[in-house]
Amino acid sequence: IWTEFLSGLEVNMSDVAFNTWIEPLEPIKLISSELIISAPNGFTKKMIESKYLNDMIGILSIILKKDATIKIILPTDNTYKQYQVRTKPGGQQYFADLTENNNGKKPIDVEKIKMEQMLNPKYTFDTFVKGKSNEFALSAALAVSKNPASAYNPLFIYGGPGLGKTHLMQACAHEIIDHNPEAKVVYLSSEKFVNELISSIGDRSNKKNSAFRNKYRNIDVLLIDDIQFIAGKTGTQEEFFHTFNDLYAQNKQIIISSDKPPKEIKDLEERLISRFEWGLMADIQLPDYETRVAILQAKLNMENANISRDILEYIAMNVKSNIRELEGALMTVIAHSKLLNEPNIDLERAKIALRKVIAENEKRPITLDLIQEIVADQYHITVSDLSSKNRSKQIAYPRQIAMYLCRNLTDSSLIAIANSFNRDHTTIMHGVDKISKDISNDENFEKEINELIDLIKNE
Ligand code: ADP
Ligand code: MG
Repeated sequence: IWTEFLSGLEVNMSDVAFNTWIEPLEPIKLISSELIISAPNGFTKKMIESKYLNDMIGILSIILKKDATIKIILPTDNTYKQYQVRTKPGGQQYFADLTENNNGKKPIDVEKIKMEQMLNPKYTFDTFVKGKSNEFALSAALAVSKNPASAYNPLFIYGGPGLGKTHLMQACAHEIIDHNPEAKVVYLSSEKFVNELISSIGDRSNKKNSAFRNKYRNIDVLLIDDIQFIAGKTGTQEEFFHTFNDLYAQNKQIIISSDKPPKEIKDLEERLISRFEWGLMADIQLPDYETRVAILQAKLNMENANISRDILEYIAMNVKSNIRELEGALMTVIAHSKLLNEPNIDLERAKIALRKVIAENEKRPITLDLIQEIVADQYHITVSDLSSKNRSKQIAYPRQIAMYLCRNLTDSSLIAIANSFNRDHTTIMHGVDKISKDISNDENFEKEINELIDLIKNE
């Protein structure tokens, strides 16, 4: 275990740090899930506790497959002698197990430990609550995990933020690894893919570049989260295209997530869009009321707190757009109940605790209509003036401001914006450019626009 533990740590540390801080440590004893380690001096102990302990606990938990703790002691501690003595009769076993040289055991797979560290142990199928909004994506994910690369390849999961894409992707990774521990499964966000690619290209020798290729082309299952981040990055799209083709040709499973369906991702190459559409597309929608309550209930069961049903219903009623925020609201109430020492917090108290969270959630989404309403209001004209043919300055200028804001604050296409102003897209581009220039030339105007943006965002 000790050797395995050390190799797990080594992965994420520089050699110098490893030799300075980790090498001198000595394993003393493992009592069920608590590992006792001795540090040569107080300074090392402090360093470990402040910088490395969390990682160490993470790795130990993975190795032991349960929540672990670590205690660092010094040879001068009384406890040290105690442990030494106790190791003698029955405890000896532990000591030996810790220090033995992994004899006869398979060498551990460092990549695998790295991978498992990237997965959130809570994101499994067991903890994923099924509802109308996600049942299709859930069954697709289950089917793919049970039989990778046989049914749906690629699987493309899409949906708005905080609706469970990452949870579902990682559940697939866990499930596949559980069924087939030998499978090489790689999960990462597309941002991380971009960064790794950039650092491999930065290396002139090109050795790293081929290491990058080998890494991503010799795996069994590739899960890329939030693919929308590669939009507009030509080099990355190129590399990803080849990776995709290689894996696909070798009949390896690919699972991708995004906040939008492939077609709607701006600046994504056509050839990638068509690849993504080869397989199965599954969307996750906003959860309905029953699902929201069920998710809160499930979360509550894991938290070991006592929150009444009417509070859960109040939260479910008021937080509708995002499961992450739904959970956040519940955690807020739990925190209040603990801090106020009110194990049976009542609805009135909970409402006070939730005021801020719920106000956030009631904000209107930023739409073209909303922007036009606010701009019209601010400049004392009407919304219909904005799309009229009237060219007087009092109207034309606010109109251009509204165009600029629509372009910058929403995801709407130029065409959609043009339609909403009853203009063609070149007029919109002209308006947007004009306002950008004025902003960069005039600080007061910039302030005015920023205030407008705040208004819109806080509506
Ligand atoms: P996304 O990746 O789509 O932005 P996440 O997967 O990060 O969303 O989900 C946000 C939070 O909501 C996570 O804590 C996740 O566990 C939780 N969550 C989402 N969907 C469900 C579900 N169906 N059941 C239980 N928890 C969920
Ligand atoms: Mg996510």
